[in-house]
Amino acid sequence: MKITEIECRVLLVPDVRKDVTSSAQDDIVVLVHTDEGITGIGESDVNPWIARACIEAPSTHTMGLGLKDMLIGENPLDTGRLWEKLYIGSCMNGRRGAVINAMGAIDMALWDIKGKAAGKPCWQLMGEPAQTAILPYASLQPNGESYEEYKASLVEWVFRAKELGFQAAKLEVTLSGPYNHSGLDESDDKVTEAVAACREVVGLGFTLMVDVQYAWPDADTALATLRDWEELDIYFIETPLPVDDLKGMARLAEESPVDIASGEWLTTRHEFADLMDQGGVHVAQPDIGRVGGITEALRVCDMAAERGRRIVPHCWKTGIGIAASAHLAAVTPHCPFIEFLPAELTDSQLRQDLVKEDLQIIDGKVAVPDKPGLGIELDMDALKRFERD
Ligand SMILES: [Mg+2]
Repeated sequence: MKITEIECRVLLVPDVRKDVTSSAQDDIVVLVHTDEGITGIGESDVNPWIARACIEAPSTHTMGLGLKDMLIGENPLDTGRLWEKLYIGSCMNGRRGAVINAMGAIDMALWDIKGKAAGKPCWQLMGEPAQTAILPYASLQPNGESYEEYKASLVEWVFRAKELGFQAAKLEVTLSGPYNHSGLDESDDKVTEAVAACREVVGLGFTLMVDVQYAWPDADTALATLRDWEELDIYFIETPLPVDDLKGMARLAEESPVDIASGEWLTTRHEFADLMDQGGVHVAQPDIGRVGGITEALRVCDMAAERGRRIVPHCWKTGIGIAASAHLAAVTPHCPFIEFLPAELTDSQLRQDLVKEDLQIIDGKVAVPDKPGLGIELDMDALKRFERD
């Protein structure tokens, strides 16, 4: 089999809001076509125009080859070798950042082809079966112009998530800090108050995670709040500190009563080695597209296993990335949850409409995928509706 074309589709929701912290408003969907009529689908969480340029830019020299240039005519089933080829060939443009994010969408599409060609769900080609069902956590980002509205929205959404059958949810409680989309500037006591209000409405026995989106400037500030959370039984605190503060993260991992999670932005196993070995996080959160695709995410999962850490993949995109997360979890015993943006509890039309047939949640779990490849079908009318030049 040979790759004949790489098609990049740039998508954006019509009501895009640049003032909110939601990357579910855009998407790069990559379609890899082959001479045998099989097409693979992948996506990544990065500005789609930048990702498209990373893929389509022509080669200029041996250390700056174009991703698409390197793939045309190649065997799409040879995922490991192609990953190395793209990584080495794009080294002066890539190695980290957007080129790796773009490679992730391509790699995801190659795995989709591999599964479709074998007539098997991707996970069966990825490793040993590890889970018979997968636990999605509902990822909730509330609305509200005031703190009271924001808290009420969060409480309502977490209650509805429980009603929808979820056994776990993550609360975005961003009331201060650099990515404070709420526009509010509230004290850290209010963060604790909002989390406690959510705990009260779902009761004990429901898993709650909290994401503060890099709100706290240092470990001392973070600990001042986290030390109050012991009895709230929070599964992890996500991105409490600036992403580059690995020393601070290591201190938090030692002293916080709540486990530390991070990794949504990182690319390649090398950045995850730093996060786990220097940052000491309990939970590593590779985003399958961003980290460099399924091939690289599997390596990060192996590294986490060697270090006794858990994997909870980040996914703030569409049903494409969620499917990839489900396949990864199916072969990863130390992946207790996957991130899941419920179509009913999100403002993102892309998440709601791009993929036909959402994964069904039964008793709070999704079944291990059983269709060939990633097992997803795009709604091409929706794709055209969202497409931009
Ligand atoms: Mg996050």
